[in-house]
Amino acid sequence: MGQRLKGKRALITAAAQGIGRASAIAMANEGAKVFATDVNMDALSTIRSENLENIEIFELNALDKKSVDEGVSRADPDILFNCAGFVHSGNVLDADEEEFEFAMNLNVRSMMRTIKAALPGMLKRGSGSIINMSSAAGSIIGAPNRFIYGTSKAAVVGLTKSVASDFVSQGIRCNCICPGTVESPSWHDRVTALGQELGSRDEALAQFVARQPMGRVATAEEIAALVVYLASDESAFTTGHPHVIDGGWSGQ
Ligand code: NAD
Repeated sequence: MGQRLKGKRALITAAAQGIGRASAIAMANEGAKVFATDVNMDALSTIRSENLENIEIFELNALDKKSVDEGVSRADPDILFNCAGFVHSGNVLDADEEEFEFAMNLNVRSMMRTIKAALPGMLKRGSGSIINMSSAAGSIIGAPNRFIYGTSKAAVVGLTKSVASDFVSQGIRCNCICPGTVESPSWHDRVTALGQELGSRDEALAQFVARQPMGRVATAEEIAALVVYLASDESAFTTGHPHVIDGGWSGQ
């Protein structure tokens, strides 16, 4: 076990699977006291099989202010990783009001709520690292068929920069992460859905892989390594930035 996050308390939303889960495990392996939360308690409870005593799990619905307030107060985190988010497919003509509302609530508003709840404790201690999940799709690169998603993830960059600039002199850092395509359960669902549209799952998979010049998608663990870096004091001079980790998608 490493020591890079020893003595720190980390709260993670959407930790039952994918990047959130990998990040909970990676932070626990670096010595943090981790509060891994999700709405899917069945999936979340499987994290117990990792046998990491420093992971505590509980239900936190990022769409529900009361649930957020209670969860943040229970964790009183030094590190807040806002990972919850949902990917809608389609262009602006496909977008409907309800889906737009849902995405803005889950992908953006939930971060305002968790940050508002966590900041007072961080300010009292004079330190804190907030990490928000954005995406390469949005403000970094315009991805086809990701109108609602890209709009919401671009908003996360603005939210991140705003928080970073307002609290930079009080020991608080706020960064966001912009991954390319990452292997996760919901990504597998998206491949299946596109495969049904195209009549070939292999073709769908090839399209997702082709976005990354490296010729593959990321593992959740590769993103978790960046989360640990941003959470730790190693990144003490970094705030207000979108950190792109996309296999070269936007870097050509
Ligand atoms: P995922 O989409 O497979 O899992 C999402 C998790 O969010 C699930 O465990 C689900 O139960 C939880 N969740 C759903 N609604 C919730 C709510 N209201 N409150 C709390 N938790 C809730 O995981 P993933 O693909 O690793 O995505 C995680 C984050 O990373 C998302 O914000 C996503 O937009 C972002 N992201 C993913 C990719 C990718 O290719 N997978 C790329 C860039 C960014």
